Amino acid sequence: MPEILVIGSGVIGLSSALCLQLSGYDVRIITRELPLRATSVAAGAVWSGSDLEGRSRCWAANTLDRFLALAKEANSGVTLQRMREVYAEDVPDPWYRELLPFFQRLSKHEMRGGLIGGYLMDVPMVAPPIYLERLHDQFLAAGGRLELRTVESLEELAGEAPLLVNCTGVGAREVAKDDSVYPLRGQTILTDAQGIRVGYMDNSSVDHIFPRADGVLIGGVKVKGDWNREIDPAISDRIMRRCSNIEKRLAGANVLREFVGLRPGRDEARLENEQLANGCNVIHNYGHAAVGYTLSWGCAMEVAALARAMEIS
Ligand SMILES: Cc1cc2nc3c(=O)[nH]c(=O)nc-3n(C[C@H](O)[C@H](O)[C@H](O)COP(=O)(O)OP(=O)(O)OC[C@H]3O[C@@H](n4cnc5c(N)ncnc54)[C@H](O)[C@@H]3O)c2cc1C
Repeated sequence: MPEILVIGSGVIGLSSALCLQLSGYDVRIITRELPLRATSVAAGAVWSGSDLEGRSRCWAANTLDRFLALAKEANSGVTLQRMREVYAEDVPDPWYRELLPFFQRLSKHEMRGGLIGGYLMDVPMVAPPIYLERLHDQFLAAGGRLELRTVESLEELAGEAPLLVNCTGVGAREVAKDDSVYPLRGQTILTDAQGIRVGYMDNSSVDHIFPRADGVLIGGVKVKGDWNREIDPAISDRIMRRCSNIEKRLAGANVLREFVGLRPGRDEARLENEQLANGCNVIHNYGHAAVGYTLSWGCAMEVAALARAMEIS
């Protein structure tokens, strides 16, 4: 089978690389950073279908199947987590209601602080440091190779392989010359808080409390256009204060680690073929904004299907 070059080793690049390997291709990853340094390591990362429309729903449903299976495996980094998802307005039943193992609407008398609508549900929760390391190990074990290198443009890779898969996240702004890509800066804190059984996600303020396999992750912020990858202590203080007001068991918890990540913002994710002017074939898979984990496996399955349909040699 011919070699395929995947550019990027965040959750989108690693998932795409693995799905291509499962289809029988030799895969090499070229990436500026190792997987545990990408934006993907900073994520929550809950499976979250609420804001999705169109074909994103199909990608999310396929990812949900995969994550529900992984949640039954020890040490996968994916667990099934009971979550309260709350809103400042009344919300209809979500499209994915029947796909979840447990779902219940929250009644108005269960809400506080001006919040009105919401759900209680069991959804997959990913601990990115564990999950990404596992994907990386599986990729290497299947014969994949990873090369640390910065790519200036896709054109420079013409001649290295018959097909490129562009998974550069916010880096696609330069690599694919796509001005519609922008950063949505996020910052999170991993704590050792104990005894928090139900997670929390407020869609009106982006406050969230995610019990995961590696601790309890709290956040967050979503700042459009901010490229700063340094931790801002004032934001950390605010996150800790706000989340401790919501969940008293966070008071006194130790900080295990802090993260910053640049979500790859775009009106919608770009998943399509392109033939460059120099004849180079590319599948783009970037721009997953705040739902990269939710869409990751479904998008990777589609990348593999597109590659098979191209009959590259
Ligand atoms: C705080 C936070 C919370 C989040 N919570 C959730 C959540 O709960 N659920 C959810 O589904 N999603 C969540 N997300 C979103 C999710 O993390 C992203 O959508 C996802 O990580 C994007 O993955 P990616 O692989 O496209 O990008 P990245 O992880 O940024 O990976 C891009 C890769 O491309 C490489 N690259 C870029 N440019 C170049 C170049 N020029 N040359 C070579 N390599 C290059 C990078 O080195 C990197 O390896 C969250 C994100 C953040 C920041």
